[in-house]
Amino acid sequence: MQVHGLKDRTQDLRKSLNDSLEGDIRDFLINEAELHTYDDLTKVNPVTPSTVLKCLQARYSAKVFYTHAGCTLVALNPFQPIPHLYSLDVMREYHTAPQPQEFKPHIFIVAEEAYRNVQGQVEPINQSLVVSGESGAGKTWTSRCLMKYYATVAASSQKCQDTVEKIERRVLDSNPVMEAFGNACTLRNSNSSRFGKYIQLQLNGSQLLVGASVQTYLLEKTRVAFQAPTERNFHIFYQILAGLLQLGNVYFSPASEEAQPCDLDGHSKGLMCFSADLLQVPLDELQSCLTVRTLLAGKQSVLKPCSQSECGVRRDCLAKVIYAQLFDWLVTFINNSMCADSSMWCNFIGLLDVYGFECFLLNNLEQLCINYANEKLQQHFVAHYLKAQQEEYVTEGLQWSFIRYQDNQGCLDLIEGSPSSIFSLLNEECRLNRVSDAKQFRVRLQKELSDNASISWDKLSKEPHFTVAHYAGNVSYQIEGMMEKNKDPVPPEIISVLQKSQDSLLHSLFADGDRESEGSRGHSKVVTVVSKFKNSLESLMKILHSTTPHYTRCIKPNPDCRPLTFKKEEVIAQLEACGIVETINISAAGFPISVFNSMCVFFTGVRSWLVRREIKRWHKAASIIQTTWRRWRAWMDALAEAELDDAEDFMENEASSVLPKLDPLLKERGSVQLSSIQEPVLVRGWPIGLAMASAPSVTVSLTATGFQRIMSMMACLKSPFRHGGYKVKTNQFDQGVASIRAQPRGSIKMHLQRSPLLYADMHPVHKTDVVTGFNQILLERT
Ligand code: ADP
Repeated sequence: MQVHGLKDRTQDLRKSLNDSLEGDIRDFLINEAELHTYDDLTKVNPVTPSTVLKCLQARYSAKVFYTHAGCTLVALNPFQPIPHLYSLDVMREYHTAPQPQEFKPHIFIVAEEAYRNVQGQVEPINQSLVVSGESGAGKTWTSRCLMKYYATVAASSQKCQDTVEKIERRVLDSNPVMEAFGNACTLRNSNSSRFGKYIQLQLNGSQLLVGASVQTYLLEKTRVAFQAPTERNFHIFYQILAGLLQLGNVYFSPASEEAQPCDLDGHSKGLMCFSADLLQVPLDELQSCLTVRTLLAGKQSVLKPCSQSECGVRRDCLAKVIYAQLFDWLVTFINNSMCADSSMWCNFIGLLDVYGFECFLLNNLEQLCINYANEKLQQHFVAHYLKAQQEEYVTEGLQWSFIRYQDNQGCLDLIEGSPSSIFSLLNEECRLNRVSDAKQFRVRLQKELSDNASISWDKLSKEPHFTVAHYAGNVSYQIEGMMEKNKDPVPPEIISVLQKSQDSLLHSLFADGDRESEGSRGHSKVVTVVSKFKNSLESLMKILHSTTPHYTRCIKPNPDCRPLTFKKEEVIAQLEACGIVETINISAAGFPISVFNSMCVFFTGVRSWLVRREIKRWHKAASIIQTTWRRWRAWMDALAEAELDDAEDFMENEASSVLPKLDPLLKERGSVQLSSIQEPVLVRGWPIGLAMASAPSVTVSLTATGFQRIMSMMACLKSPFRHGGYKVKTNQFDQGVASIRAQPRGSIKMHLQRSPLLYADMHPVHKTDVVTGFNQILLERT
């Protein structure tokens, strides 16, 4: 009874939560006019695939292509040139802005942030810009934009500009060549990158671009010999390398006698001849290396004809090994032409253009490796992001605790862990060096890995397979052929034929002979495809861990590359594949989203209130200073005016009846006294500041004007000046005056040879009626 009650309550609660979430989503989506204004998807409330999608769609319609998603930048491909978005002026604007983050989301914010990090030399100084997304999403474009940005900002002088442009040109020019060799038409994309690349932009101590290098990852060389229906081989074959394709058309017929090698039909014979010609190798040796195996029996070698299918495998292997070596040679060639000497650079900004998560109808070892790489990157991203987020909260003084997020460690353990994982079992199978059986391998996987929740099997499927629950979705991998692909055997006969090539390039590709061929390897130390891939990925992860990462997720809004066309299904699949919704959730993980958002409102309120209050205080202080200054000036003018009138009167012996009407206090302290004094009076010109530190017995006026100016000047110049009863002297006695300058508005500025600090310990007499200020003329009774 109690159990039922609890169940009912739980169901009620779940229903009411669902209802309220749906209500929130409806409320959010109703506000259509506002949707495009969300610069950061973390502000979307509630965060669901549909709200995020709708927001991106609204922005895309408003021709806004960049949106923040926490520390990730989402870039929607416009499939249309938007020149004003990438002009030099825009680059400069972002580069010179004190706070570029406050500008509209843009790839230049990412670029500038990385550049400033290098300038600031804050550890880790080196930077990685991770640009991901499926083929056609805009990775190459984005990488090009980033390089152009650095070419603009990381060059100061003309000479430097030339170097930068040369490097930029080489990096950009190398791109079509690399794409020709490394990209192909797939089911999802007509220009799909079938390899990953990390472009390192090398900066010197003044953050100027001095060189670049490219590192590539996992070229999908199986494509050379096999393409899924409606997919194509690498572009280069359709452009120039029709030679290797000849080889692909060579077909073997079963041998007429069992002990004999397979035959070639007439057509294939011609193609074989043509291939030998292109490769510049002896025809008979080429044919023999494809059809006959050399077995070592003690010190003797025995020749054994290959079966028809083995011949086919060898033919493909020949094409693949040439292609892979050629690709590596190309990358080395490009690097040699643009890599700076290591003494010339000290920091770098790396651009990682990486293939996105893949799920086809048939997936095999290539997809497993690509998706494994994406799992690794996702794990790095999550770890980095949570760390950054936590630091931000700590800086803001916010109390927060980690909230659980989707940890993909289980999936990584399944793929690469030890002692048992898909990779370890695949490698073990290769070491056993027996003919692999897909069904047996499936049983093995089931036995060893069924404890891991990330693997499952479709019981109804007849094809041996396994399904992995990746962070971006489930993918079924076929087992058939996987073990062979992992071994990637290269028969030694093939290598030795290629080493005999008269073609200098082909010869140099295989001349050193250190490529491990099947025969040169002992069975115990097979370097398999997954081991090599794991190693190169680990070296990439090391680089990423030692740099500050910046993530950009490129999204392809429609499959047909049509301008400004947003297909919801297409976009949602990519958002899921790159884990964007997950990312946004993580960024809001410190607080439940609604609380988080309301806190952000709250904080923005408090911040702007504090700023307003501060401005008001400054304003008030400024008005007080202004008013006081005006009063003081008025008072000084009045005093000076009164004194001047008096002095003129005094000099011209005029009657005091013409004196202007003065405040009795001013009269007492000023000119009235002057005119009435009988004995000679010493007039001393005090420099600025000293007036404040002196203790004169008689303080007469402020601001030297008219008569006082003359007297001061004479005093400073030490010229004898006597008129009537006045003796004029400088207050500095024997120290002299270095310079004198008459200021506008009547005051005089004197520069003294000796520091006025001599008088710093002197204090004015604190009489209530003492007038102090700048440029005082002080009169003392002698
Ligand atoms: P990927 O490298 O991800 O395969 P690309 O960078 O080659 O994709 O982009 C595919 C095409 O989309 C480009 O040829 C270009 O025409 C267009 N494109 C990508 N990004 C933009 C952009 N920001 N503005 C205009 N066109 C773009």
